Amino acid sequence: MNIGIVGLGLIGGSLGLDLRSQGYRVLGVSRQVATCEQAIARGIVDAASTDGQLLETANLVFLCTPLGVMETTVKAIIPHLSPETTLTDVGSVKAWVVNTLAPLWPNFVGGHPMAGTADSGVAAAQRGLFQDAPYVLTPTATTPKSALEQVEKVVQSLHVRIYHCSPEEHDLAVAWISHLPVMISASLIAACVQEANLEVQLLAKALASSGFRDTSRVGGGNPELGLMMAQYNQKSLLRSLDTYRQQLDHLIEAIAQSDWATLQALLEQTRQTRSAFTTNPH
Ligand code: NAP
Repeated sequence: MNIGIVGLGLIGGSLGLDLRSQGYRVLGVSRQVATCEQAIARGIVDAASTDGQLLETANLVFLCTPLGVMETTVKAIIPHLSPETTLTDVGSVKAWVVNTLAPLWPNFVGGHPMAGTADSGVAAAQRGLFQDAPYVLTPTATTPKSALEQVEKVVQSLHVRIYHCSPEEHDLAVAWISHLPVMISASLIAACVQEANLEVQLLAKALASSGFRDTSRVGGGNPELGLMMAQYNQKSLLRSLDTYRQQLDHLIEAIAQSDWATLQALLEQTRQTRSAFTTNPH
C-alpha cells in the first residue's frame, strides 16, 4: 500500500518512520525542499517532493500540516488524488477540521494521535512516538465505512490505542486534558516572572526543580500549537477555563479564610482522582 504524508514535521515525520518500518511505501510532500531532502536522508520517506503530484498513487494520505493551512493544503492536493484515496488528518482539534475538510473530500476520516514532544520540524521526528498512545478517530454519519476501516488498519500497525468519538466530544475532552493544561502551564510561567523583587525572581529560577519542570513543560512548548488550540477549539477551551477559574477562586477563598478543612478535602479528592486520568487502562 502507498501512504502519502503531507507536512513532514514532528508528527508527519514520526509517522513516516514507523509506517516505513511496517513495510508501507511512504510518499512525502512538504513545503520546503530542504525538509524533503532531510526526510529522504533520514529514511522517513521512500520519495519526497514539494509537488502534490507525488500523491497520485497514494491509497491513503495523512494530512500533517498545522491546522491553519489544512484547508488550502487539501484544496491544492485534491487535483492529484485518485477518487478512491482515503484522506485523514492528525490535527489536535476535530470539529473544525471535520466540518471543513469532509465536504472537500468524501473519503475523509478525522484523526488525532495523542502524542508529541516540545520540538517541531522534520529534525524532531522520532521512531515509536505513537507506541501505546491513544489515537482518536472521529467518524461521522457520512464517513464511508471502507475509509474508516482503511485508516484503522494502518493506524493499528503503530501499536496505538484506538478510540472513536464524535468530533465535538473529542474537542470537549481534549480541552480538559490537553488545551487547558497548556493555558494553565503558560499562565504559571507568566505569573512567576511577575515577581517584582528581582532577587527573589532570580532565586526562584535557581531553586526551580522537578515539580516546576513538570508543571511548566506544556506551557513552554511550541507557541504555534497553543495558539491553534485556542483559535480552533475556542468554545470548548473557554468552557474549561471558566470552570478552572471558579476552582481557583474556591481555592483562594479557602486559603484566605484559613479554611484548612476545605483545602485538605480538596487535596484528598484530587489525589484520589488523578490516577483516573493518568493510569493507562490497558
Ligand atoms: P511541525 O513539526 O511544525 O510540522 C508541520 C509541518 O507542516 C512542517 O514541517 C512544514 O513543512 C509543513 N507545512 C506545510 N505548510 C506549512 C505552513 N504554511 N506553515 C507551517 N508549516 C507548514 O508540526 P507538528 O507538531 O508535526 O504538527 C502537525 C499537526 O499535528 C498539527 O495539525 C497539530 O495539530 C497536530 N498534532 C501535533 C502534536 C504535537 O504535540 N506536536 C500532537 C498531535 C497532533 P516544511 O518543513 O516543509 O516547512
